[in-house]
Amino acid sequence: MSTQKIDKLVSTYKENKMFNSYTKSLLKGSYIRAVNYHETYPQDKEKFEKQLAFLGQYYTSVNMEDLDKFYKTKRWHKKKPGLIISLFEGYKNNYEVFYPLLEKYGFVGWYFVPAQFLEIDVEKQQHFADSHMIYYNKNIYNGERIAMKWDELKEIDQNQVVCSHTMSHFRFDNETSDEVLKREIIGSKELLEEKLDSKIDVFCWLGGENFKKGSKVSKYIHEAGYRYLYSNNKIEKIG
Ligand SMILES: [Zn+2]
Repeated sequence: MSTQKIDKLVSTYKENKMFNSYTKSLLKGSYIRAVNYHETYPQDKEKFEKQLAFLGQYYTSVNMEDLDKFYKTKRWHKKKPGLIISLFEGYKNNYEVFYPLLEKYGFVGWYFVPAQFLEIDVEKQQHFADSHMIYYNKNIYNGERIAMKWDELKEIDQNQVVCSHTMSHFRFDNETSDEVLKREIIGSKELLEEKLDSKIDVFCWLGGENFKKGSKVSKYIHEAGYRYLYSNNKIEKIG
């Protein structure tokens, strides 16, 4: 579900206490759904808070154990359907603005982080973002840090889920060399695991491709030891 859609639902709810059928059909379903966020600026905090309060009425959190259990038993074990809230690119504002709100509303965020972004010096982050399809609002940007710090991500990792989103926010194609695939898929996992001293089980590539057995990319995802592949429209268990 897009954030615009949630906003629409929130406004529908506010204006119309009796849910219309459109709203009902979107909220129905008993398993796991996902909603994606990218930048989460402080000026939108109130809006996010409303969205999370709204979502909290109908959905419950999903952590790694919940997902494992779901795949193992093929049954969703909580009363409300699960909601995976994913945050992409490792923005500082994901930590400063959204993470406390997730904790407050009892949700678990899934942070998809291009590990190299956190390694870039502050003064070079703008250039890195510009050249690696990491978007940020240029009207708001004031030269400060764009990416999270490792200790912030480590704090997040205590209660929430950190996943690899390639090393450098790299989009694979048929021409991508083995060397680059190894760095982006295996290297990103190793760097995150070393910095966080924790296990990284989920990989998410750019775009919405499915896991294709036998493809070169999938071979490395498997070899790296990821257990799940997350893409735009689904989560696949691969190990
Ligand atoms: Zn991304």
